[in-house]
Amino acid sequence: MSNINTLIIGAGGVGNVVAFKCAMNQESFGNITLASRTKSKCDDIVANIKDKVGVEIGTEQVDADSVEELVNLIKKVDANIVINVALPYQDLTIMDACTECKVDYLDTANYEHPDEAKFEYKEQWARDKNFKDANIMALLGSGFDPGVTNVFCAYAQKHYFDEIETIDILDCNAGDHGYAFATNFNPEINLREVSANGRYWQDGKWIETKPMEIKQIWDYPEIGEKDSYLLYHEEMESLVKHIKGLKRIRFFMTFGESYLTHMKCLENVGMLGIEPVEHKGQKIVPMEFLKTLLPDPASLGERTKGKTNIGVVATGYKDGVKKSIYIYQVSDHEECYKEVLSQGVSYTTGVPAMIGAKLMLEKKWYKTGVHNMEEFDPDPFMEELDRQGLPWKVMELNSADELRRDK
Ligand code: NDP
Repeated sequence: MSNINTLIIGAGGVGNVVAFKCAMNQESFGNITLASRTKSKCDDIVANIKDKVGVEIGTEQVDADSVEELVNLIKKVDANIVINVALPYQDLTIMDACTECKVDYLDTANYEHPDEAKFEYKEQWARDKNFKDANIMALLGSGFDPGVTNVFCAYAQKHYFDEIETIDILDCNAGDHGYAFATNFNPEINLREVSANGRYWQDGKWIETKPMEIKQIWDYPEIGEKDSYLLYHEEMESLVKHIKGLKRIRFFMTFGESYLTHMKCLENVGMLGIEPVEHKGQKIVPMEFLKTLLPDPASLGERTKGKTNIGVVATGYKDGVKKSIYIYQVSDHEECYKEVLSQGVSYTTGVPAMIGAKLMLEKKWYKTGVHNMEEFDPDPFMEELDRQGLPWKVMELNSADELRRDK
């Protein structure tokens, strides 16, 4: 075993997968500690890992909203890297604890303030100097989307195009958990994301849409045709900065009728609100109460059947000729569950988080400061995806719209 110490923070669906996958790659991650707000959840996960993988992982309790507690923990376990798979609300405190301790940092989702449903990289990018001064690195958004989608764009840029003009990121989850309504990852984060206004980038500016205003039907390989809605998604913010010559980027996610009807109804009655309301002398936040009522995403794994398909359609020019390609990855929820006791959404997020951390520890991806995924050579990451359970394919298309069925 190496003399590396790895600290994972967050013991939800994604934390479970990261802990499993780090244990399965113990030669890179050395001594692993899983810490979260509720220590019993960490203990349950590590017991499963010991059973299935035969690797021992330590557990700790931490309130990741407290820089002081985080600093004490990072020092206690003498971490070389912190993998943050708690919630986006904790990004800044964990980053600040990492700069204080001079330890590398990785996350899968950009910072959001708990009181404002708005996510952007501004405050994390502003910490670039702190990371450079401490001579350490932060890798932002190393999940699937953001994460692998950024790497797919960098791969397209490196191997297929002189210049990319348009990108459509397509996220399809065709999993069925048998509940009328449930979210596949943290309900609060998920519902805040999908109930917000849509936004895409064209000719140098952001264009805002109403929530779910733009619908297209895409034909997803291995799944079939699905209604797909334009959403704002955080990887677009860094991709417009790093993919030179880009003229348009959009993000589409599939939703079924039942999900949308439930969501609209919950929204109409105020259950998606994030402001506290007075209820019988007590203050409650409707969205937090809803989270209590909904099934825990971590419990969906066992019941979920079907596949996910997330990919990128890129169009541009190579040697003066216009071309389009589609790079995509298909996962099967039941296969994911068999391997690590989590459904596909947690799996497709947790595996790239582990890969990003592995490449940082191996110094294959390493520069001081705060960075996004597409800033690095995509090749070693793409090789690891194949090796670690997320095999991908490239399809050459006749046009950017070839897989659309609503034209
Ligand atoms: P969960 O809600 O299942 O898990 C979050 C975990 O973080 C829980 O264990 C929770 O503890 C812990 N936590 C929350 N607050 C604190 C705190 N203050 N201190 C310590 N621990 C805390 O979420 P998921 O596992 O579904 O998602 C994890 C992250 O992954 C999120 O940031 C999400 O946005 C991101 N994600 C990224 C995706 C991508 O493709 N890039 C896709 C899906 C998710 P407790 O158990 O006590 O509540």
